[in-house]
Amino acid sequence: MDVMQAAQLTGPRSIAVREVPLPQLPDDGGVLLKVGAVGICGSDVHYYLHGRIGNQVVEYPFTIGHECTGTVEMCGPLAGALAPGDRVAVDPAVSCGECDQCRAGRPHTCRSLRFLGCPGQLPGCLSEYIVMPAHNCFKLPDRLSLRQGVLAEPLAIGVYAAGFLEDAKPKAIGILGTGPIGLSVLLAARAGGAETVYVTDKVEDRLQAALKAGAAWAASPDETDIVSGILSREQGLDAVFECCGDPEALDQAVEILNPGGTLFILGVPETDRVAFDIHGLRRKEIRIQNIRRQNGCTQKALDLMAGGAIDAAFMATHTFALAETGKALELAAGYADGVIKAVIDLKERGEYF
Ligand SMILES: [Zn+2]
Ligand SMILES: [Zn+2]
Repeated sequence: MDVMQAAQLTGPRSIAVREVPLPQLPDDGGVLLKVGAVGICGSDVHYYLHGRIGNQVVEYPFTIGHECTGTVEMCGPLAGALAPGDRVAVDPAVSCGECDQCRAGRPHTCRSLRFLGCPGQLPGCLSEYIVMPAHNCFKLPDRLSLRQGVLAEPLAIGVYAAGFLEDAKPKAIGILGTGPIGLSVLLAARAGGAETVYVTDKVEDRLQAALKAGAAWAASPDETDIVSGILSREQGLDAVFECCGDPEALDQAVEILNPGGTLFILGVPETDRVAFDIHGLRRKEIRIQNIRRQNGCTQKALDLMAGGAIDAAFMATHTFALAETGKALELAAGYADGVIKAVIDLKERGEYF
C-alpha cells in the first residue's frame, strides 16, 4: 500500500478527500505517524475561505491542518526514545536548528521554518499518515486521548503567551476574543495565578465557555461598551491579549491598558494592515508584544492537562470523520452550533467510506 487518504483544498471553500502518495521516511531522525486526530484551527479556516494568509498563498490542491496527534508507525534509526506504538502530540513547527534564530533559542522564528499545512512549507496533517522529525513528537500522557491531545497545540500558544506575565504577575488582565487561542491564554493565565480576567467575544457560547473556564467578567462588544464596562471595575489593565484579529479590539485594548502596559497580539486580522490610535499608544507608552505561535511549551501544555491543572477538554466541541472535513471547516467558519474547536477523528468513519 503506497497511497493514503488526505483531505485537500481544491479551491476556495472546496475540499476533496482523495488518494495521495504515502509519505516516505525522509531521514534518520524522522518518524512515520498514523494520524489519530486533527484539530481545525482558525488559520485552516482562513486558508479554506480565502486561500491565503498574507503572502502565504495556497497552490491547489493542498493538504492543510497542523494540530494533530498520532501513533508512531515506523522510526528512523536516529529517532531517539520513540518506538512504534507510542502515542504522540505533534509540534507542527519544523525548525532548521542551524540559523541565528535557532541558535539563539528562538526556533519558532527560524529563518527557514517549515510549518505543517502552511503553503510553500509542508503539507498538512489532514491525512492518514505524516512524517515528522522525532523531536517534534511528544509522548502523550496515558490519561489523554488522541482527541484531547490535539489541544496541546493551541494550549501551548496560551502557555507561551501567559509566560510573558511571569515577571510582572498582574492581578487583572484582559483577553479580547475567546476562541480556542483566547481560551488557551485564559486557562494558562489562570493556572499561572492571574486572579481577575476580563474577556470579550461576539459569540455568546464562547463567553459562557470563558466564564466556566475562570473568567471573572465576560461581555460582547455588540451589546456592552467594553471600555467603560472594564474601566468602571478597574483603573486599567497592565496586560491585554488581543486574540480575535478584529481591528476594533486594538482600539479597545489601547483604551483599557494602564500606562506602561503591554498589548499582546495573537489574533490574525483579515486584512494585511491595521491602524492604531498612535497618540493613545505613545502617551501611555504602551508596549506591543507580538506572539508568534509558541516556543518550547508543548510538553508544559501536556503536563498541565495530564496533571489536571488545566482542563481543556471542553474546547473540543465537535467531532468529524476525515471525509467530513469540509463540514467541519464550514461549521468553524460560521461559528455555528456553539463550536469552539472542531476535531477530525480519523477513527471515525464518515459517509465517504
Ligand atoms: Zn492552530
Ligand atoms: Zn533555524
